[in-house]
Amino acid sequence: MEICKILSRLDFSTSGSFFNDKNEGEIKSVLVDYYENNKALKQIAKESNKKINPSQLRKEFPKILSKNICKHDLEKMYIELPIKQDMNNFSIKEETSKCLKCGHTSQKNCKCDNCLEEAEEKVDITICSLSDRIFLMIQCF
Ligand SMILES: [Zn+2]
Ligand SMILES: [Zn+2]
Repeated sequence: MEICKILSRLDFSTSGSFFNDKNEGEIKSVLVDYYENNKALKQIAKESNKKINPSQLRKEFPKILSKNICKHDLEKMYIELPIKQDMNNFSIKEETSKCLKCGHTSQKNCKCDNCLEEAEEKVDITICSLSDRIFLMIQCF
């Protein structure tokens, strides 16, 4: 996928602090430099005169707005841009979206804190024997 087709789906408010002093157009040109013009992250970091390591810099790229909503906190979910090498095979897949607030993903076996907690609660009920469940019910009254 070409970066120019993705630019319109980006939510620029999700850009990290590296981009604080840049407007939308400037952020876009950084992305085009990286994905299309084969510019290294190291080079981009160097030219900015900011102390940031290249892998951190890519994490600060703006993210693609997903159609999914986080089931835990109803926040918007986002899809991260891939590394340069994966851009050719990249397509916007809603199931790879992630909630920036709680870390929930759209994957079935999501391992975010909220999903793990939910899974634990479910397990608790099913592993209880019948007598335990009756005991618990009596305790509740
Ligand atoms: Zn969430
Ligand atoms: Zn989750």
